[in-house]
Amino acid sequence: MMNAQATPAEIANVMTHVRARGYKPIELPGADRLAIGVLGTNPSAIRDAVVALPGVVAAIPVSKPYKMVGLEWHPERSVIDVAGVRIGDGSLTVAAGPCAVESETQLVDTATHVAAAGASLLRGGAYKPRSSPYSFRGLGAEGLEHLQRARELTGLPVVTEVLAPADVAAVADAADMLQVGTRNAQNFSLLEAVGEAGKPVLLKRGLSSTVEEWLLSAEYVVSHGNPDVVLCERGIRTFETGTRNTLDLSAVPLVQSLSHLPVIVDPSHATGHRHLVPSMALAAVAAGADGLLIEVHPSPDEALSDGPQSLTFEQFDLLMNDVRRLVTALRHQLVGVASQRPG
Ligand code: PEP
Ligand code: MN
Repeated sequence: MMNAQATPAEIANVMTHVRARGYKPIELPGADRLAIGVLGTNPSAIRDAVVALPGVVAAIPVSKPYKMVGLEWHPERSVIDVAGVRIGDGSLTVAAGPCAVESETQLVDTATHVAAAGASLLRGGAYKPRSSPYSFRGLGAEGLEHLQRARELTGLPVVTEVLAPADVAAVADAADMLQVGTRNAQNFSLLEAVGEAGKPVLLKRGLSSTVEEWLLSAEYVVSHGNPDVVLCERGIRTFETGTRNTLDLSAVPLVQSLSHLPVIVDPSHATGHRHLVPSMALAAVAAGADGLLIEVHPSPDEALSDGPQSLTFEQFDLLMNDVRRLVTALRHQLVGVASQRPG
């Protein structure tokens, strides 16, 4: 932590000392003073080397195992810009669309509908992680083309999952945001690859990840050069079988007390049942989530994946009306909705 009056020469001197010891210094400008972040495995060695340098006020170890995603490192909340849609700025962002891209018509119809209802991002998987190798695993590259077409027609930026490091470049080329799914939340080589992809990342919580493990997964992405991470609570595996997963809503305020990254909630995968989605979506808004991820399908009973949890267009309209009323009651602002569909 530099003194508020530290000179550029004193700052440069600290950076040089840190580098000389083999660490990478990162400048962290604060409201009234600069901090220099140092990542490494031997904090006391570096502390002793810099604490007495001119201009240094203190050398403070970051207590949490994650560093760059934590509030200690970065006290201001991050706002993530996804092709002009801002997540985490106090508004509520709704991403909606089918589980999987099945055809151009299915995707464009859904995109047109969710855009009119007030969603600001389009979701849809072209590469699908499926528990069974015999299930529909997505259209792949053709699905990416449909996503681009839907974006052209509706203006909605697109978020889609990437399953493997080898696909990151192609998916990053086509999409505005890369989703890392629950099954890959601890696939560290994939996390590193999306860290270098130059597109914002939507990082689902691992099926059995603690909040700390989830934040450490985010740390992989951020420490590989990509600060634009949005966290997504999508339910965790418990002994309960009445729902597909158990939605951990307490994770929303917990994450917000530990990290500056925005956190959104996916009540579709969390519950697995369409009739449970609206109430959990509203509960997530009330809990302070920065956004929602909702699966919507033109004909859920015919969906190739996750039909039982997908909302019909009509159900999505009703939910968005309730979300709008709740957001108004909570005095948040719903981006892009009020102007598109009043009432
Ligand atoms: C999805 O979003 O369609 C998906 C597969 O989600 P999750 O990784 O949370 O199961
Ligand atoms: Mn799905």
